[in-house]
Amino acid sequence: MGLSVRAFTRQHIVAIAVGVLVAGTPLIAFNFWLSGVIDRQGQVETDAAAKRMISLGESRIGEVMRALDDLAARGVKACDPVNAEAMQRAAFVTTPIKEVAIVGPEGRTLCSHFNLSPAGAKASLSEAAVLDAGQRRILSSERLSETYAFDVLNVPEGGQMVRLRRLGGEGANDIAAMMSTTLFLPQATSKTEQLYSYINVKTRDGITIGQSGERPADTKDIFEATRQSSKLGFTVNVMTHRGRTIAGNVDLKWLGLSVTGIVLLILITFGLMVPKNLPDNPVTELQRALKAGEFVPYYQPIVDIQSGKLRGAEVLVRWRKADGTLVLPGSFIPLAESSGLIRAMTFDLMRRASVEVGAAIGQRPALKISFNFAGALFSDESIVKDVNKTFIGGPMKMSQVVLEVTERDPIENFTLTRQVIAALQGLGVRIAIDDVGTGHSGLSYMLKLGVDIIKIDKMFVDAIGTDRNSTTIVETLVDLAHNMRMDVVAEGVENFEQVMHLRNLGIRSAQGYVFAPPLPGSSFLKLVEAMDTLGGEAGKSLAVPQKAVAA
Ligand code: C2E
Ligand code: CA
Ligand code: CA
Repeated sequence: MGLSVRAFTRQHIVAIAVGVLVAGTPLIAFNFWLSGVIDRQGQVETDAAAKRMISLGESRIGEVMRALDDLAARGVKACDPVNAEAMQRAAFVTTPIKEVAIVGPEGRTLCSHFNLSPAGAKASLSEAAVLDAGQRRILSSERLSETYAFDVLNVPEGGQMVRLRRLGGEGANDIAAMMSTTLFLPQATSKTEQLYSYINVKTRDGITIGQSGERPADTKDIFEATRQSSKLGFTVNVMTHRGRTIAGNVDLKWLGLSVTGIVLLILITFGLMVPKNLPDNPVTELQRALKAGEFVPYYQPIVDIQSGKLRGAEVLVRWRKADGTLVLPGSFIPLAESSGLIRAMTFDLMRRASVEVGAAIGQRPALKISFNFAGALFSDESIVKDVNKTFIGGPMKMSQVVLEVTERDPIENFTLTRQVIAALQGLGVRIAIDDVGTGHSGLSYMLKLGVDIIKIDKMFVDAIGTDRNSTTIVETLVDLAHNMRMDVVAEGVENFEQVMHLRNLGIRSAQGYVFAPPLPGSSFLKLVEAMDTLGGEAGKSLAVPQKAVAA
């Protein structure tokens, strides 16, 4: 379990890393983009606010100008009680106007709509003059146009006020309107208070008309915009806080949140789907199958074609999947070899075969069981100890075990391989060269390894009798083997004719479909018991080849 869990986790980590890269990069990019959008949006909002305040001021001043123009058109130009009603009405209907006044030389207030009553013009006049003398201090005064001037005043009643004067011309009085400095500031609502950190409105000369909030000491995370009225010359300076802009901008916040949410959802779905939908790493799959015991031994009988008796079997691995399908070794042995898993797989197979058929083989000392042993395993000395451990004390004798090394793969370290083979032979194990005639190493080279058995490949078996050269090669091989006291096994024997030819060439052992295909353990055990009854006859012979031999 440990192995497969580890592999699964590793795959998860890889999947998550890929997921984070694939989804995370756009997410980071998106957040950068969003942050840029918020920055730009914040600046745009701040600019727009300054612009709004300019047009607010311009439109309120414009309204007041229209009221003063109207009074001028009505002939209002002195503190005459006949003007009182018009002045009062103008102050009443024009929202920004707090007071309508007649202003004399040096900007002195001569009378206002408050103290100018139609009944007591004279008294009021003097009262107003007294009231204004030295009490309303002009902080700044500027000409807006031919007909208008704009003043900022200090008033005793409370702070500052602004005054718009319609100029009466040479020697004549002005008609003026007093307004609050908040004229230029937006109506304070909870939203504007949140948004604007600071607003300041100045005259062209830089005299502050009005302000709200406190100027932030640190302008980090602050958007600032300054705009000047082209018509009236006043300047508005607005500062907004970045956090407040975002907070005020619910749309963007939701956009960021929902995109992050969607990306996370995709990531999680992707992560959950990986183990189900993406094919597992094939090596991981082999490891899992090995742990699950899905690699099982099949046994192909090896028969004595002279006597028809059973000589043993070659173990051929089968991958029996959970759904019952059998996979042939050609499709997974190469990967098992290249991944190094072949060692564990081979020893697992050896142990399974020992458990399954070991007793039956052990009781019949003439029988041998061979295992395919990947070439690479011979270049590791520790294999000798493992082979010993696997079979020592088991039901079979060491001398009943055969290890097949294939001639197909080139031998990398000849000296070491030879030493390992010698050490294995020292244990009592026998070594066979498999697929003789198909490799490129050359037989004489392979024979220097000092093996006990050679297995003649199906290719030659098929050619015997039809191809003169192949027949000669096999004849030579058999001679050579006998001279070197090696056994010969013919592989892939499929018909009686081949059996006859092999017999005539003096070959004793053969395996192939003509006798039996690779069999599952239970079938092989039945065959063993049927052919080699213990304590009974010395051994029965296989019916089919026996007939062939008899013929
Ligand atoms: P091999 O060692 O040459 O095994 C003989 C192959 O010939 C087997 O194929 C067997 O089923 C097949 N065969 C037997 N009789 C006949 C016949 O009359 N006609 C024909 N056409 N084929 C016959 P299989 O079982 O598919 O194994 C293929 C190869 O996989 C083996 O060739 C061997 O090289 C490798 N292999 C099998 N099991 C193991 C193993 O446990 N370890 C290693 N390292 N290799 C293995
Ligand atoms: Ca073999
Ligand atoms: Ca073979």
